[in-house]
Amino acid sequence: MKEKLKAIVDEALSQINASDQLEKLNEIKVAFLGKKGELTSVLKSMKDVAPEERPMVGQMVNEAREKLESCLEEKKTVFMKKLREEQIKSETIDVTLPATKPMVGHRHPNTIALEEVERIFIGMGYEVVEGPEVEFDYYNFEALNIPANHPAKDEQDTFYVSSDAHSNIVLRTQTSSIQVHEMEKGKLPIRMIAPGRAFRSDEVDATHSPSFHQIEGLVIDKNITFADLKGTLAVFAKEIFGEDTKVKFRPHHFPFTEPSAEMDVSCFKCGGSGCRFCKGEGWIEILGCGMVHPHVLEMSGIDPEEYTGFAFGVGLERIALLKYEIDDMRLLYENDTRFLKQF
Ligand SMILES: [Zn+2]
Repeated sequence: MKEKLKAIVDEALSQINASDQLEKLNEIKVAFLGKKGELTSVLKSMKDVAPEERPMVGQMVNEAREKLESCLEEKKTVFMKKLREEQIKSETIDVTLPATKPMVGHRHPNTIALEEVERIFIGMGYEVVEGPEVEFDYYNFEALNIPANHPAKDEQDTFYVSSDAHSNIVLRTQTSSIQVHEMEKGKLPIRMIAPGRAFRSDEVDATHSPSFHQIEGLVIDKNITFADLKGTLAVFAKEIFGEDTKVKFRPHHFPFTEPSAEMDVSCFKCGGSGCRFCKGEGWIEILGCGMVHPHVLEMSGIDPEEYTGFAFGVGLERIALLKYEIDDMRLLYENDTRFLKQF
């Protein structure tokens, strides 16, 4: 029995030493230590052993089992270590491969256009001023010469903050309201642009949105004339659309300016000869402007006998759409990254 056990253990040990794979170790474990394994069969043959020798044989079997188990475990650790080393080797990063670029955000076309406009006017000595988007009716309409019954108030289809028909709080329909706040401060002269969001209850289509952006400009000083307005806006147009850009002023009517005009720029696509972009006109309408109405100055406490001024308003989206030749305003608000990353 003793010899038999030794033979089994020797055989098992030599197989363990010769094994070159993890799976082999499992096979050996099953063959010697499993339910039908060789060592187990020795225990089963205990009945043939004399009763007084049984404890000794039992102990020998247990010792053999422990020895085999620890050898298997030892060999297994060696294999696992080797496997891990191979895995690490195979997963080595090739640092010479080009990396996947992370997504980097960038400025929205509206923001690019706004910063361009701000740069131009700051360069001419203007201040950039902001104001509240929720505004008193007075600053949005009345102080700009648009009294309660004025048709311009209907045209603008204002969002009132409360459903009360007599509500005097509105979402500003234009950023001109900021100009009133500045004039009221009484610090003259004024040279400012007021960019910001404005709101009108328009249906969304290719050229309208209930929320859009405006840039209003205001200059008030002594001896400001229409020539100053024309010169300033001509410089602005050249800076935005190119050195060859010409400007044209057509008489118009706004309640807060007198005289008032609309300014067109020569088409920067065809240079004025007419193309699809300018609908064959050669000119593109760009902004509204005029000399500040004396009554508007008076309402804000400025003496129209001493001071004059001009004002203009331009849609930021209009600039962005023209500059980047985008034909649908909705694209600016949908935030589709495939569209936005082109700019
Ligand atoms: Zn054209």
